[in-house]
Amino acid sequence: MSARKNSFAVIPSIEHLLRRDDMQVLAIQHGHNTVRDCLRDATKRLRFEIGNNANHHDKHSKSSNDRDETWATKWLVNTVTALVNQQTKSTLASVFNLTGTVLHTNLGRAVLPEAAINAMIDAARHPTTVEYDLATGQRGDRDDHVADLLCRLTGAEAATVVNNNAAAVMLCLNSLALNREIPVSRGELIEIGGAFRMPDIMERSGCRLVEVGTTNRTHLSDYAEAITEATAALMIVHPSNYDIRGFTSKPDRRDIASLAHEHQLPLIDDLGSGTLIDLEPLGLPHEVTVREAIAAGADIVSFSGDKLLGGPQSGIIVGRTDLIEKIKRNPMKRAMRVDKLILAALEAVLRLYQQPTSLAKQLPVMRLLSRPLADIDQCAWRMSQAMTESVSQHGQFTVVDCHSQIGSGALPGDALPSRAVQVAPTVSGGTGLLQWATALRQLPRPVICRIQNDRLLLDMRCLEDEASFVGQLRVLSVALNGGLSPC
Ligand SMILES: *Cc1c(COP(=O)(O)O)cnc(C)c1O
Repeated sequence: MSARKNSFAVIPSIEHLLRRDDMQVLAIQHGHNTVRDCLRDATKRLRFEIGNNANHHDKHSKSSNDRDETWATKWLVNTVTALVNQQTKSTLASVFNLTGTVLHTNLGRAVLPEAAINAMIDAARHPTTVEYDLATGQRGDRDDHVADLLCRLTGAEAATVVNNNAAAVMLCLNSLALNREIPVSRGELIEIGGAFRMPDIMERSGCRLVEVGTTNRTHLSDYAEAITEATAALMIVHPSNYDIRGFTSKPDRRDIASLAHEHQLPLIDDLGSGTLIDLEPLGLPHEVTVREAIAAGADIVSFSGDKLLGGPQSGIIVGRTDLIEKIKRNPMKRAMRVDKLILAALEAVLRLYQQPTSLAKQLPVMRLLSRPLADIDQCAWRMSQAMTESVSQHGQFTVVDCHSQIGSGALPGDALPSRAVQVAPTVSGGTGLLQWATALRQLPRPVICRIQNDRLLLDMRCLEDEASFVGQLRVLSVALNGGLSPC
């Protein structure tokens, strides 16, 4: 016991440490309280270490207490500096998305166009008329900034916006079907990542799901037979992230709409990704557009703002005026409303859709999805060469065929031909691959790759800023040698 107590004596006091020049500098940079808290943490850790190694330190303390005190101080200063840096560094890092998934939910989905970024900066910097009508000097409606645009782009009568499409679906169901029934095809009872399960969402929205049809086949008669006094609406859900093939059938959305209308019921269509334009001219597979869903007779259509639309995270609801009014009157709308930054970005993105011809250039999501293969190929060759020049001692680099995905549940069955730089690490086997993936994530602007079938691939579809990527390769060799601190 006394040996341990003796060992603790080498730990300098927090007050003493705080008076050191290097700690003072740290305090000026990051705040006195942060440094003091980290000093407390570090001291606690050191006491714990010493307590565990009482014998070891006891030996030292008998012979050279001074040396141990220097050692303890050094350890504390280093640890506190690391802790402070860790605590004050943003964990929201911008990265290179070389996963091949263009709309990667974990990497924030759509990258915004410059016009939207500038609009967000303006809205952030100045007071903004988010709910203010300049003409009358009266209170305005925040939906007004995008509602007209959305109506023109979709052919709908009215529109409103909430935080994401999950919120949009909940709000529609709660507003239009509270304590009543909605028949949905068993082929559309989907789960989307992040615990969005249609049956659970319906229950939490306060309405009763009536399952109709089977997983692979649902007929119009299945819907017809499910309609009762308690039915509030019919609903179609886009099977976003999976694909049913083979012996399948489902009714045309026009026929489901007609059936709903024969019974004076609205048709709710959760389009998921919801594109505003026909994707085929961009060389992409056809996806039902919002305009087509409205034209087919849907009374309410909901879709995401940050999937194929290419805007900020938001959920857009368009449709019949009376239903949109009802949705807007729901008190839950207030809890789901978007802020001025999102509105600013969304408006700017929607304005780009007014000039569809330049969309493939102006809107990053469309630009990346329609990027010519020859372009990606050339980029891949340049990058494999740059990597060979910088880090050849750590691996070999070849350009290989691969497939990118749209992501976020859009067009799940269709992969886009792309090119990747494949890394064959000098250290062979799984360790080599993991070492590489880790080193790539430790770069100043982390590079996120994918490991598939024991191959490490850097899909070049989404690499546009080649100079920054190449600029980091010098540091990559340091990281591969284990020289960069883990993030
Ligand atoms: C993605 C998706 C949602 C959820 O949208 P978020 O904007 O991610 O909240 C809901 N329904 C469908 C069909 C989807 O594809």
